[in-house]
Order: sequence, then structure tokens, then C-alpha cells
Amino acid sequence: FSPWTDTAQVPFIRFENVTKRFGPFTAVDNLTLNIYEREFFSLLGPSGCGKTTLMRMLAGFEEPTEGRILLQGQDLAGVPPYRRPTNMMFQSYALFPHMTVEKNIAFGLEQDNLPKAEIKARVEEMLRLVKLENFAKRKPNQLSGGQRQRVALARSLAKRPKVLLLDEPLGALDRKLREETQFELMDIQTELGLTFLIVTHDQEEAMTVSDRIAVMDKGEIVQVAAPAEIYEAPNSRYVADFIGDINIVEGRLECRGEQSAVIGTDFTAVIDQPCDLADGASVAFAIRPEKVRISTDPPAETVTNAVYGEVWDIAYLGDFSVFIIKREDGFVFRAAQANVSRLVDRPITFGDMVWLTWTADAGLLLTR
Ligand code: ATP
Repeated sequence: FSPWTDTAQVPFIRFENVTKRFGPFTAVDNLTLNIYEREFFSLLGPSGCGKTTLMRMLAGFEEPTEGRILLQGQDLAGVPPYRRPTNMMFQSYALFPHMTVEKNIAFGLEQDNLPKAEIKARVEEMLRLVKLENFAKRKPNQLSGGQRQRVALARSLAKRPKVLLLDEPLGALDRKLREETQFELMDIQTELGLTFLIVTHDQEEAMTVSDRIAVMDKGEIVQVAAPAEIYEAPNSRYVADFIGDINIVEGRLECRGEQSAVIGTDFTAVIDQPCDLADGASVAFAIRPEKVRISTDPPAETVTNAVYGEVWDIAYLGDFSVFIIKREDGFVFRAAQANVSRLVDRPITFGDMVWLTWTADAGLLLTR
């Protein structure tokens, strides 16, 4: 059975109108999503949005209430988890504490009754892959958290799944180790040429590792795109607000040909983006703080987008600082500035009156 005629178009994994209900509660709501071969794909969203449920349905631990899941065009309905070409990597605490690293990695292969020589070869390959050749005889409690995580990864890859499923895999690691492990995961995924599907609520993690991200809200997908597009061109207030820092101001739309204006209370922003809604629609203007210029000098008269206010707070973040600017009427706006020229320029400080300006191509018009 194959519903696809052109094989190049076949998504590796396809969720087709998938709904999952738990009693009266809808955890996944009529969701359609294609994931392609060799993608590093993230499901990103707040707790309870249905990410894990979606992944568990692909693994076969849950069946959809409605809709179907296809892998290489084949419907997975009724296929038990152990017969699916997917494998789920569990947190490192799922390792067997009494077994050595190599025994842990070999365990699933022994269950499958693979020949001894084959098991030995695969364990060696996996140890090399996760750079733990010299730790084969150790037990998990003789390893660091990051090393244990790599054993868990090796164990889930040893069975050679086509798709590796990772559910919040790095949650237990500290920040630095998590970042290192993210790069290792990317290297391994490239080296093996597998499809990785990761569930995370950590937007930085999703941005770092993914080829594409699906941002989820209440059982639905809000946007699917590459990290840069999610950040630069969020399709909604929800995505804009979930990923990174951003100023969002509500207002009414005014179409001005190639440009749009968002007229808020005591605030107007002009954006280089034509309107596709009627004048007067409720919309939002959004801009990332790093796209806002901050200066104590008044802007040229040609500048259309400007806010004048007092420096209320400064968050020094090393490579850049975030300035909280408060206008006299209480309106608050954020600007970020790289700290490279900090020692040269007269630094902007608390209580300074400053101008925030930005170009019309830097802002975003959010219509939903
Ligand atoms: P988290 O990051 O907290 O794991 P998530 O986005 O992965 O969140 P899911 O675990 O998919 O969310 O859960 C989605 C919703 O479905 C939640 O409200 C959860 O309580 C509910 N849910 C999940 N599994 C079951 C179940 N077996 N029975 C009843 N409700 C469930």
C-alpha cells in the first residue's frame, strides 16, 4: 500500500488529521504534520500542549483517536512499538545501574538474539560514536551526568532505528553540559544520517539543534519553520512571544499601500509590509529589542518610528545589555545593545532620557 506516487515527495513521517482524546480532554487536535528524512525536527511548546502525546503515538505507546500516522507512506495503525523503526531515548536514569556501560548498550541487542559477533561490533561502534571507548567497563554511577546521557543515547541508537525520539533528553543536565551535548547530538545525527524528533519546552535548545521546529499550543501546531524564520517571521503573537524577547503593542490596522501602520493608544508604528486585512482590524506591532536603536540624540525628522523615554532599568547580559525604557505616560519599551563599544562610547545609564528608533523594515505586523 502506498498513497504516494512521487517517492521524492513522500514525507518520512506524516501525522494526518491526528486527534488524541483522553476521555473528554483533547490532547492533540486534528493535527497534520510532515517530517522529512534526515531532519532534526523539534516539537516545541509549553507544558501540556501535547508534544509528548504526539511522540508517544509515533512510537506506538498510544494510538490516535482519529487520523493516521504514516512512516514512509505506510500506515502504522496496529503496529506494536517494538516492530516500529523508531526508538525512544529515555533519560539517563533509565540505565541499568548494576550493568557496565557496554552491557547497557548491548542489552537490547541481546534481547533481540543478535549473533554475539554482531553485538560486539555494534557496541564498539556505539562507544566510538559517543566517545566512551575508554569507559566500557564502568558502571553508570562511575560516570558524570553527561557521560550517562551519552550511554543512554548509544543504547537507543544500537538497535539502528530509522527515527530516534528524544523526549526532553537534556533536561537533567546543567546549562554548559546541555549546550555541549546539543552539539554532540547534531554531529551524531549528521554522521548517522538519521531522522531525529525531539520534544522540548526549551526554545534555545530547539533553535540550536533543529532543522525545523513545530511550535505547538493546546494540541495544535501554530507554526512550522526553520529556526531563523520562527525568530524573524513569527506568524502570530503566540509564536513571537514564546521565542526570544520581543516588544508587542496592540493597535488598529491602517493600510498605506506597501506599508502598514499599527495605531495603538498614543503609539503608531509603520511597517514595510502590505496589509491583507481591512483597515481598523485588531492587530499587533512587534519588534525584537536588538532591532531597536538607542541614543541620547534626537532622531532625524525623516525617522517615523521613535519612542522617547527614561532609562528605567538595564540588564547587563555580557555580550549585550537590555534597556527598559519608560515613557512619561507609563508606556514601556525594550531595546538591546551589543556591548562591544561599551568602553569607547559614553555609556547610557539609569535616568538618561533616550530616543528609541527603528526602521520600517525591522518591525513585524502580527495579525493573529
Ligand atoms: P510536558 O512538557 O509537560 O510533558 P506535553 O506538551 O508533552 O507537556 P503531553 O504530555 O502530551 O504534554 O500532555 C498533553 C495533555 O494531555 C496534558 O494536559 C496531559 O495532562 C494530558 N494527558 C496526557 N496523557 C494522558 C493520559 N494518559 N490520560 C489523561 N490525560 C493525559
